[in-house]
Amino acid sequence: MNKVNYNDIFNEQISKVKATDKILLHVCCAPCLSGVIKRFEGLNLTLFYYNPNIMYKEEYDQRAQALIDYVDKINKGLAGVKFDKKVRLIIPEYDNLYFLNKISGFEKDKEGGTRCRICFALRLQKTYEFAKDNYYKYFCTTLTVSPHKDADIINRIGQQYEGYIPSDFKKNDGYLNSIKECKKHNIYRQTYCGCLFSTNNIKK
Ligand code: SF4
Repeated sequence: MNKVNYNDIFNEQISKVKATDKILLHVCCAPCLSGVIKRFEGLNLTLFYYNPNIMYKEEYDQRAQALIDYVDKINKGLAGVKFDKKVRLIIPEYDNLYFLNKISGFEKDKEGGTRCRICFALRLQKTYEFAKDNYYKYFCTTLTVSPHKDADIINRIGQQYEGYIPSDFKKNDGYLNSIKECKKHNIYRQTYCGCLFSTNNIKK
C-alpha cells in the first residue's frame, strides 16, 4: 500500500491559507518549533504549548522558558523568519494529573504504543477545542518533526477534526534543521520525549 505523502498535503493546504486566516500551531517544544517555523512564514500564527505529558513541572517550565525566549527572537526578527504580525504564544495551565489519568494502565507500553497514541490524541483534541472556541480557521502540530513519531498516526488523529492541516515535518530535513537551529540560537534541547515512562530516554 502506498504511504500517504503528508508533506505534499501540507504544502498544498498551507499554500491556500490567506495571510488573514488565523492558524493555531500546537508546539511540543522550542527545538521542534525551530525546525518547522519557516513553513509558516508570513502567516497569522499563534502557538499553543499544551503538553501535560511533560514530567515534571520543573522540566515543563524549562521547556516553556526555552519557547518564550525563542518566540521573542522570532518577533525581534533574529530567528531568520519573517511575520507581518507578532507570533503569539499561549501557555495553558500545566495539568500532569490529567495526562496520568488518561494513560493509566499503559505506563509500561513501549514508546510509540497505545500510551503515545493517547498522548497525541489528548494534545490534538485540546488544540482543536481551543481553535474552535477562539475562531481559528486552521490548526496543526509540530509533533510530526520528530523521527521517533509516526506522522501517519498523528495525522489520522488530527484529521478527525475540522481545520486540521496534516504534515510530515521530518521531510525536507525538518529534524536536521531543528538541530542546527538549536545550536545557532542556543535553544535548550531536552534529553527525553516528555513523560518518564519511556524505557529509553529518547532525544527529540
Ligand atoms: S513517550 Fe512521549 S509521546 Fe509517548 S506518552 Fe510519553 S510523552 Fe507522550
